[in-house]
Amino acid sequence: MKSNYDILVVGGGPAGALAAKTAAEAGHSVCLIEKRPAIGTPVRCAEGIGKELLKEFIEPDERWISADLQRARIIAPNGATISLDQSRAGNEVGYILDRKVFDRELVWRAAEAGSDVFVKTRAVAPIMENGAVKGAKVISAGKAMDVSADLVIAADGVESKFARWAGLNTTVPLGEMMSCVQYLMTDIPIDPVSTDFYLGREIAPEGYLWVFPKGDRTANVGIGISGRQSRDGTRARDYLDRFVAEHFPGGKIIEHIVGGVSICRPLPCTVADGLMVAGDAARVVDPITGGGIFNAMFTGRMAGQVGSECVSAGTCTKDALMKYDEAWRASYMGKTLERNYKVKDYFITLDDAKLNDLAGSLANINMEEFKVSTLIMELIKRNPKMLLELRALK
Ligand code: FAD
Repeated sequence: MKSNYDILVVGGGPAGALAAKTAAEAGHSVCLIEKRPAIGTPVRCAEGIGKELLKEFIEPDERWISADLQRARIIAPNGATISLDQSRAGNEVGYILDRKVFDRELVWRAAEAGSDVFVKTRAVAPIMENGAVKGAKVISAGKAMDVSADLVIAADGVESKFARWAGLNTTVPLGEMMSCVQYLMTDIPIDPVSTDFYLGREIAPEGYLWVFPKGDRTANVGIGISGRQSRDGTRARDYLDRFVAEHFPGGKIIEHIVGGVSICRPLPCTVADGLMVAGDAARVVDPITGGGIFNAMFTGRMAGQVGSECVSAGTCTKDALMKYDEAWRASYMGKTLERNYKVKDYFITLDDAKLNDLAGSLANINMEEFKVSTLIMELIKRNPKMLLELRALK
């Protein structure tokens, strides 16, 4: 590893990979470091993504697609099921990825573009000069060293520490950190082309439980509940185990992961002198779905673009880097995050009876587009009072 780069990217997930690829393509010397010994493992994700969203970055490849979906089903607490079918929705639903392969492909493309890549290499502190980030202290395969850089892009995921070390407030309120557990289960009866979302206080308080297919009789079966609901006997795993015992009693668990998903508003500012923050580290996960793969790639690529321009111009001050912060907030993604934050705040107040009512109101739904935003518009159309209740939220 060299001791000096134009741009140092911390984290080898989708945000870091896109940032490194974009910056390397712009002709800069780039170093991507990943603390784990292998890119893409362990997978901490249910691996769902919309087809249109994915295509913005990469052409689909069967090597990293586990399931090509045709429908999504939302199951209300009373068991009523809203089925959103591709044929009725008129467009494509989505994929379940194989992130072990997908994340590697993204990093491979960054390497192909010219970025250096180091696994088993952890950033342990920023190098600071006169209040500006100028690189990172790293431990690479047990060896400590300083890597200086004009710009650091912190793409270190939900557990992000780099931005905090550099002085940004990255705290996520407990109630806005979803506590998640997921089993990769096999030998279970599932619909191999449907993503199923189960709602209800008894099933997943302030969250939802998902069954995302990974093959004919295999699926990611997981749950996210609000951190403030999690205590002895009512932890995410307790809810998941109850569900599994009821629905998949003969199933075999071949992987067990835990993880957090932030559903708070994004960081108030995602840049500082010499620093940009992208992906989960910037808290840009969709607060309703908990989906963050697309947003990570979107902000990673944008950080790579704006960061490259600033490095070329010879100024990586906070003022210069603000173009990135302003651009992603003004984008469709940024506006969706803001709207969905309010809708999420509304949804978590609903009891099971209200959830059943809302689900009932969607009976015979025929959506022209398969999107969360379209679903919300339909809900408002059929439940006009909801708009007033939403407007009352800050
Ligand atoms: P990450 O993918 O987390 O990558 C960050 C990387 O940085 C990690 O590899 C980490 O090891 C590395 N790192 C951290 N600190 C350091 C350091 N100091 N030095 C070097 N490297 C470091 N999103 C969806 O879109 N669809 C889903 O179905 C979905 N399901 C999910 C289910 C669960 C249970 C969870 C937990 C999350 C889910 N998400 C989902 C969210 C999605 O996984 C994340 O939004 C996405 O991975 C964010 O990408 P990222 O690059 O920002 O962060």
